[in-house]
Amino acid sequence: MAMPAPRILVIEDNPALRANLDAMFSEHGIHADFAADGLSGLQFALSDPPDVLVLDLGLPGLDGLRVCERLRAQADRHVPVLMLTARDALEDKLLGFRSGADDYLVKPFAAAELLARCLALSQRHRAGTAHVLHVGSLSIDRRSGVAHRAGRTLALQQTARHLLLALAEASPRTLTRSELIELVWGASPPESGPLRTHLYLLRRALDGPLDTPMLKTVHGVGFRLEADI
Ligand code: CA
Repeated sequence: MAMPAPRILVIEDNPALRANLDAMFSEHGIHADFAADGLSGLQFALSDPPDVLVLDLGLPGLDGLRVCERLRAQADRHVPVLMLTARDALEDKLLGFRSGADDYLVKPFAAAELLARCLALSQRHRAGTAHVLHVGSLSIDRRSGVAHRAGRTLALQQTARHLLLALAEASPRTLTRSELIELVWGASPPESGPLRTHLYLLRRALDGPLDTPMLKTVHGVGFRLEADI
């Protein structure tokens, strides 16, 4: 039996490119939704997760990297992301992978190439190989949210789990306190600095009984997750 066509969400601010992609996807019988800015695209992706997200890097308001980071922190399952970047943006490309993109395509590109990448990503994801994230001996199943370290299941409540996933997606980069707060709570964090409490709970669950702590405090900057093996 043929695989059902994937549902695609495209976040792209260039109207001509959106129109081209719309025509191309309909020609192939694929349903695609479109958003023209990062924030509305992110909200769409969170409320109705697509099979593949095609995400432009340069967007008004919330750029592609931030959309990707927030999606990874807030979505309850893994959404494969194909990042679109400008030709000369090699560093951005690398950043794109660190913020959790699964693949990238350099502009300008052929529509057929984009279609092929989308289909490959969706297939790979359906085959179930793309949803487990590894940092050293830590693994996190993005679908179930279950995390293991060195064969032990970590007892984490939801906020600590979101923090761990955000740190793991960013690893080895340091996330500042404000980045962490934004990734986990979005624009409306609860009052009275709960970050400290949740980081304490995360540290206890992740590193407590082990000799090699993974959660590192970078004094005056923030926190990062360091691979232990
Ligand atoms: Ca753009």
